[in-house]
Amino acid sequence: KHAQQTDVFIAEYQQGWDEAHLKNLRILGEFNSALEAGQLAVYYQPKVGAKDKAKVCAEALIRWIHPELGFINPETLIQLLENAGQVGALTRWVLSRALTNMVELREQGIDIEVSVNLSALDLLEDELPDYVASLLQEHNIAAAKLCLEVTESALMRDAEHSLANLHRFNRLGCALSVDDYGTGYSSLSQLKQLPVSELKIDKSFVLQLDQNKDDQFIVQSTIELGHSLGLSVTAEGVENEASGAILRSYGCDTLQGYFYSKPAPLPEFSLWVKNYIANVHSWSANE
Ligand code: C2E
Ligand code: MG
Ligand code: MG
Ligand code: MG
Repeated sequence: KHAQQTDVFIAEYQQGWDEAHLKNLRILGEFNSALEAGQLAVYYQPKVGAKDKAKVCAEALIRWIHPELGFINPETLIQLLENAGQVGALTRWVLSRALTNMVELREQGIDIEVSVNLSALDLLEDELPDYVASLLQEHNIAAAKLCLEVTESALMRDAEHSLANLHRFNRLGCALSVDDYGTGYSSLSQLKQLPVSELKIDKSFVLQLDQNKDDQFIVQSTIELGHSLGLSVTAEGVENEASGAILRSYGCDTLQGYFYSKPAPLPEFSLWVKNYIANVHSWSANE
C-alpha cells in the first residue's frame, strides 16, 4: 500500500513539474512576439521623500499580462530570460520605454528621476553603457535622472567585470543603487568600493516592520550603515503608515511601498504624482 501511495505521489509530482516546465517553455517561446505585439508594459511605482515630502521619483517594473496565462511573475520571467541568455532584450526595451515615458511626464511638468532594474547578466554586457548613453542623448535626458538598480548578488557574480561596467555607468553620470540590500553577502569593504549613491533595504525586512523587533533592529542599523558610507537609504515594501513612521524616525531618506501606491501604468502613475504634489502643497500651506 505504501509503495502504491508513493507511485501516486511521484506521478503527481512529475505531472506538476511537467506543467510548470511547459508553462516556462511557453513563456520563453512567446516572449519576443509578445513584446512586439505590445503585451508587455512598464509600470511605475513612486518612491517618496521621507523628510523632503515634495521629492518624488519612480521605479520602472516590467509587467506581462498574458492573454491565456494571466499575470507572469516578473522574477520568474527575468530568471527564464537570464537562463536563456535573452535578458538583454528585455532590459533594453524597459530602458527605452522608461526614457520615452520620462519625456511624456516631463511634458506634463513631472520631471523626476526614474530607476530601472538591471539583471546580473546586464552588468557583464559591455555594450550596455553605450546603449544607455545614446538613449539619454536621443531623448535629451540628463544622465542623473536615470538611476540603475543592481542587486547585491549581481555584483558578486563576476565582481571585477561587473564593477568595471558599474564605473562606466557612473562616469556617464547615472545614479546607481544597490537593490535588495541585506539578502546578499556583500561585506562592508565591498560596499565601500562601489560607485553607488543609494542603498535599498529589501522588502523582506520592511513588510512586517511595525510588528517585528528583529526587523526594526536590522533596518535601523542598515540605515545607519548606509548613512555612514554617505549613501541615501530607501526602504521598499512599506505597506502601512506605522512602518512609514518608524522608518522616518530612523532617518530613512526615501519610502516605497503599497501604502503610497502599487506599481501602475503611466497614466495612473502620472495622476497619482499630480495628486500627491497638490497634497504636499496643501499640507505646507496649513502648517
Ligand atoms: P525589485 O527591484 O526589488 O522591485 C520591488 C518589488 O517589490 C516589485 O515587485 C514591487 O511591486 C514590490 N513591492 C513594492 N512595494 C511593495 C509592498 O509594499 N508590498 C509588497 N508585497 N511588494 C511591494 P515586482 O514588480 O513583482 O518585481 C519583482 C522583481 O522582479 C523586482 O524586484 C526586480 O528584481 C525584478 N524586476 C521587475 N521588473 C524588472 C525589469 O524591468 N528588469 C529586471 N532586470 N528586473 C525586474
Ligand atoms: Mg528594484
Ligand atoms: Mg528591491
Ligand atoms: Mg526585490
